[in-house]
Amino acid sequence: SVAPSPTPSDVLHRIFGFPEFRGQQEQVVSRVLAGQRTLAIMPTGAGKSLCYQLPAVIMDGTCIVISPLIALMHDQMRAADAVGIRAATLTSADDNRAETISRFRAGELDLLYVAPERASGQEFRNLLRETKIALFAIDEAHCVSEWGHDFRPDYRLLRPLLDDFAEVPRLALTATADTHTRDDIAEQLGIPHDGVMVAGFDRPNIRYAAEAAPNSGIAALVKSLPGAGIVYAQTRDRTEKIAAQIAETGRKALYYHAGMEPQTRARAQAEFVSSEDMVMVATVAFGMGIDKPDVRFVVHAGLPKSIESYYQESGRAGRDGDPAVAHMLWSAGDFTRARMRLNELPPERREAELARVAALSYLVETAGCRRAVLLRHFGESPPESCGNCDNCLNAPDVHDATELSRKLLSA
Ligand code: ADP
Ligand code: MG
Repeated sequence: SVAPSPTPSDVLHRIFGFPEFRGQQEQVVSRVLAGQRTLAIMPTGAGKSLCYQLPAVIMDGTCIVISPLIALMHDQMRAADAVGIRAATLTSADDNRAETISRFRAGELDLLYVAPERASGQEFRNLLRETKIALFAIDEAHCVSEWGHDFRPDYRLLRPLLDDFAEVPRLALTATADTHTRDDIAEQLGIPHDGVMVAGFDRPNIRYAAEAAPNSGIAALVKSLPGAGIVYAQTRDRTEKIAAQIAETGRKALYYHAGMEPQTRARAQAEFVSSEDMVMVATVAFGMGIDKPDVRFVVHAGLPKSIESYYQESGRAGRDGDPAVAHMLWSAGDFTRARMRLNELPPERREAELARVAALSYLVETAGCRRAVLLRHFGESPPESCGNCDNCLNAPDVHDATELSRKLLSA
């Protein structure tokens, strides 16, 4: 006779060591175990990985995880490994690919992480026929949609693979998708409308603020904010300059960008993660996959790329639930640059991007509740006032924001 499979809560306690499911996790896990195709939309930090890792432990066979970034895959593999889940990555950066493939063939893997371009290739498809596949998990699933803020054409190649294994359950996961993008992801990945699960996006402990400000204000602002925090700057050069300005005020500061030596970058990251009062000045290359729950503030030194990016980046503050600050400093020049970027896009993508920049301009210029603007963008119906953003806390001078938007966005 066969030993009964452990229940989801057994695995949650014994393997992951968590006392309970959070938010939507239990519902998503149950759907996956029942074989129902699902698109889970859950904010950053909500615990999306567990939604496929836990079923991967229970289900017979290997869970194939599609993920867009090698660094992200390696972080997740290490985390899974640390709790005793049998996980491996199959990427160009791995020199143990032959070993991974033989472990996979022998049915010794719970999780196998691959990039979309590899997953969609014929060679990988043949390999999949050699072992039982428990589940396809498509992480960062907004990459499949042209409406998404980070479209990756490779994600489009996944559909034929999924349909080749039509009986294998599929779970798509993303943090950021407005209603339009949501429908498109479901459509692109063959997930039925009633398989779309949306968790609440509100992060009530984050105090949002935005102000039109010259760059010189950044160091003074950061000096006034306690604890560890991230400052997002737009260029490599700016990260280094701003870090120096902050250090001059007596605050500990590091910088991080893609132009640094990998070891130097890893060291800066590790130092930030273990510190309670370090300021990390970084390009947006920094933050994805970093597990630091006590980030007390995220400052944007300049406009983020889109309202989705803003939500994701600012959402790295206060994951422990304690009070945190998300403060954006922007200038009219940022909008001019954004408009130039829009004009360089192919026409079919311009409309969606324009909507994102417009949403962002509304967020920074509104005299009303900023949280309400953010949440409405993600399809929620929040109250008019949150009591925890700059505008709700001190009613601002009302100026004609619509006029400014019109000027900035008329292409
Ligand atoms: P996401 O992919 O949604 O941004 P992750 O899967 O990276 O989030 O998880 C974020 C953090 O939450 C991780 O540190 C993870 O261990 C933790 N976590 C996940 N599920 C739970 C839970 N049920 N209880 C407590 N912590 C959890
Ligand atoms: Mg994730």
